Amino acid sequence: MKDRIIRLRLLDLRRSIFKCWYIRPSFYVFLLLTFYALFLSKVPVWAHTPLDVNTNEQGENSTGLHAIWHDKGGESDIYSARQAHELGEFRILETAGSTGLSAGVFWSHFTLRNRDSHPLTLNIEYVDHQLVGLQAFSRKAGSGDLFREVSNLSIYEPFTRRQVAHNRFVFPVTIAPEATQELMVRFDSGELGVVFPSLRIWSPQALQQNSKGETSLIAFLFGGYFLMAVFALVGAIAIKEKILYIYSFYCASKILVWGTVLGYTHQYLMTGSFHWGYGSLSGAVAIMAGLVFARTFLETRQYTPKLDFLLQLMLLNGAFLIGCVFLELKALSQISMIIALLCYPLVVPIAMIRWRQGENAAGVFALGWATLVLGLLVQAMRDLGYVVHNPVNYYWPPVASFVEMLAIMAAIGLMVQRLRLQKDRAEKKYLQQLEVSKIDLEELVQSRTRELEAAKARAELEARTDPLTGIHNRRSFFEESNLLLKLAQRKQIPLGILMLDIDRFKSINDCHGHLIGDQALCATARVIAQHVREVDVFGRIGGEEFALLVSADGPGTLAVAKRIHEDIAKIMIKSALGPVQFTASIGVAQLQGERDVLELLQHADSALYRAKRTGRNRVLEYAVAEG
Ligand code: GH3
Ligand code: MG
Ligand code: MG
Repeated sequence: MKDRIIRLRLLDLRRSIFKCWYIRPSFYVFLLLTFYALFLSKVPVWAHTPLDVNTNEQGENSTGLHAIWHDKGGESDIYSARQAHELGEFRILETAGSTGLSAGVFWSHFTLRNRDSHPLTLNIEYVDHQLVGLQAFSRKAGSGDLFREVSNLSIYEPFTRRQVAHNRFVFPVTIAPEATQELMVRFDSGELGVVFPSLRIWSPQALQQNSKGETSLIAFLFGGYFLMAVFALVGAIAIKEKILYIYSFYCASKILVWGTVLGYTHQYLMTGSFHWGYGSLSGAVAIMAGLVFARTFLETRQYTPKLDFLLQLMLLNGAFLIGCVFLELKALSQISMIIALLCYPLVVPIAMIRWRQGENAAGVFALGWATLVLGLLVQAMRDLGYVVHNPVNYYWPPVASFVEMLAIMAAIGLMVQRLRLQKDRAEKKYLQQLEVSKIDLEELVQSRTRELEAAKARAELEARTDPLTGIHNRRSFFEESNLLLKLAQRKQIPLGILMLDIDRFKSINDCHGHLIGDQALCATARVIAQHVREVDVFGRIGGEEFALLVSADGPGTLAVAKRIHEDIAKIMIKSALGPVQFTASIGVAQLQGERDVLELLQHADSALYRAKRTGRNRVLEYAVAEG
């Protein structure tokens, strides 16, 4: 399962990396060239002397490694070198080209033969950029003359003193017609060692031509770095992204470091005295910029705190290196630089861990950083003498550095893409949530409205209803019955009213208690309700007084009243003292031009009053004469 996940993640990484069109070809070309630089170019140059040279030297001939002397003390001059040569102390250097890390001074002895009948001037080029000083001595071979100094080059000297303007050490040699010239060259690399004693031989024109080619490559690389730095800076200002500022600075630091290391700073910028520390300083700045970028880009402080501590230590070492340069502590600065370079590859596994944690862009970053590490590895292998020096592996580190920056740019692209996707997703989710909340809110409002409406309806019903009997109360009775009255008046429908009062109700209360009284009221309401039709209005208008508005003519109303009167007399309420029965008196009136229910009811009331007065338990009609 875990394997499957890793396989899927690898596939994912491959997809995401190769989405950028320029990554795939760069990656393959880079792997191919690294392979070539490491394994196919291991052919050391042990050329024998005398070496036949002519006017067409294209840099393909080299002076070779067949006679090299290592002066460990580094104090030797031409006399001691000559003596060492005579004593047979010059030996074949059995490496691929470099002396490796061995302090002191190296001497090379070789002879160049001119078979032409013209004097021949050649440019002899030291192939690397790390040398501190180079001295060349020459004499006519076999003459027994003293060696004469033909060149004395040092990085501490102003660039203008160089006989041939070139970012690396180059010195001219003139060979008389049909003569052989014997040369002794002293290489001084300070404490570090790493000398490439095999010198390339050029005709001056060919060297110039070749320099143009090299300058074009460097211009391309530096132009690329410059453009990346500017674009990143503009992008950083535009979108206010910290990582782009750091990337921009990192790009700029690459120009600084490679310009200085490859000798262009001395050739074009600091043409005066060049300090040994400039290389270390620019290296430290680039390393620190890279580390700061890696820490920020990979968010190590947040996701891999322990490894982040390691990166901080590396940063500290960078700061220490800068300190050493300013304090002129050359040996310490070299140790610090070696530590920095040895620790440099650690960023790759850190990036891989971040990739495993799910950050795709970190995978691309790891690839970019690994490219640079591979480039530096090629350089280290060459410096230590395992791999022969050639133009490919010489330019491999700066090219790898360039590829690294491209890959990192792609990684930033991926990161920005991921952030944008995340933002889009978050926005979408937010909108969805907003929609859901809106619906929830609407539902809530609707249900609250329903509840309020129900409560209002309940309150209205309660306001209209008599709580004991559940029929219309007085106010409601008047409202409803006035509506019916208006309708009846308009449509000329006959309308009668009954006003009913329970006889001697007080005595029921007094004898049997209020509860029985209440039961009697409820039973009365129920009995009357049986005679009420839908159009009629019925209500309790006083303590034991009921009113009923019926749409019926005089006899109809009277009939209803009588039936009600009879039915009430049949009500029997059970009480502790025995069954309770009662009667009611009803006053009846018929609508005859009354303006409202109150007026009509007053007429019924006066009939009721009469009924009470004349002995109760009866139904009496309102007589107009009463009014
Ligand atoms: P009459 O025959 O003249 O109508 O005599 P009455 O006793 O019925 O009339 P009265 O007006 O003297 O008494 C009415 C009584 O009704 C007084 C009051 O205590 C009682 N009553 C009013 N409302 C209620 C009620 O809601 N429940 C009960 N149990 N009694 C009520
Ligand atoms: Mg009464
Ligand atoms: Mg009464």
